[in-house]
Amino acid sequence: MKLLLKNARLLDMVGMFPEIKERDILIDGNKIAEISQVINESADKIIDCNKNIVMPGFVNTHNHLAMSIFRGYKDDKSLMDWLNNAIFPIEDKFIDEDFYWNSYESCLELLQTGTTTCNDMYFGMKNIVKAIEDSKIRSVVSWCITDNSIGSKPEETIEYSEKFNNDKNSKIKVFASFHAPYTCSPDTIKLVVDLAKKANIGIHTHLSETIDEENEIKEKYGKTPTEYLRDLGVFDVPVILAHGIHFSPSDIEILKSIKGGISHNPISNCKLASGICDVVNLRNNGIKVGIGTDGTGSTSTLDMFEEMKTTAFLQKINNMNPEAIKAYDILKMATIEGAEVLGLQDEIGTIEIGKKADIIIIDTSGLRFTPENDIATTLVYSANGSDVLTTIVDGEVLMENRKFLYSDEELVKKKVKENSKRLLK
Ligand SMILES: [Zn+2]
Repeated sequence: MKLLLKNARLLDMVGMFPEIKERDILIDGNKIAEISQVINESADKIIDCNKNIVMPGFVNTHNHLAMSIFRGYKDDKSLMDWLNNAIFPIEDKFIDEDFYWNSYESCLELLQTGTTTCNDMYFGMKNIVKAIEDSKIRSVVSWCITDNSIGSKPEETIEYSEKFNNDKNSKIKVFASFHAPYTCSPDTIKLVVDLAKKANIGIHTHLSETIDEENEIKEKYGKTPTEYLRDLGVFDVPVILAHGIHFSPSDIEILKSIKGGISHNPISNCKLASGICDVVNLRNNGIKVGIGTDGTGSTSTLDMFEEMKTTAFLQKINNMNPEAIKAYDILKMATIEGAEVLGLQDEIGTIEIGKKADIIIIDTSGLRFTPENDIATTLVYSANGSDVLTTIVDGEVLMENRKFLYSDEELVKKKVKENSKRLLK
């Protein structure tokens, strides 16, 4: 199957500075085969990009897909109150349909707003993986373990990692996961580290999200959460560390040598008043930082444009310096640097020959793009997810002119409403 994108204004996210190139792009199978000023080769499908912006799809580095049902449910609470009294009791009642349809809804919202790769952490993964496969989004997935929920997850992680990670063309990659330092004993964390080493995979977890977590771990173990994880061997394998807000200078020294990186979740951090992740300091220390939305419950939407804008503004105000971070750096975090955090930088994150074709087309005809003086600042400060016209994952057009080609959006919404009615009443 050959797909030809004509008349693109290409922002390939390769260079040090934003540069728009007028190009045609030929996709052969799941890969980018040719990028030239004019390509006249025949193709199975041709899309006229009409001089709209064509760029890599976003890499969303931290998700809980099945939490879409919690949109607007018991908002405006602190993290611990919200988790213990609003979220955990309902999650305990989830059945297969909840995992499947809630996750499917999140996948569609992600694709609709320009995310082509997500990174899920949850339980009940069998049905979540099915939703990911049916929606056709690219994803890293991990079975989240806490002290209370070890169950059969270690075996499932091994089974699924053997199935997906050994397949070069699989859109799904499997990581190991424990929930967080404050929900996992040293024994549970060691079990996950052993599992990751045995399966030769990385670990996805939450780290240093709140001051409460910091205090609790210091009180229990006499060390910071980062030191706690280091001493348990977590950083011996690649890691995706979600949030990363309350790091000490010595934590930063430890993190300089990790493989993987931090997933910054600015809207979740704002909504739960967890604090501000010092992205500028982390990046200045050579630590990779991607952007994530977290679950819908703590973010309300899964729109990476909103996360990019919030990332930029939080760093500017945190440093009291409008030059603290530039819009193009934010775009890099949302694409190629996010891919680096997930270990997928050789496959996705830029538009280059040989890379997987994960591409979005952004409609620049609207008022928000008029005039378009600077493409990077326009995308980060002016655009939003509804400007995404077309989403391509692995060479397949999944949404064209805002219509899903494989998924029944109305059915997914109906099912999630039914789940919500049954669970949240
Ligand atoms: Zn999370």
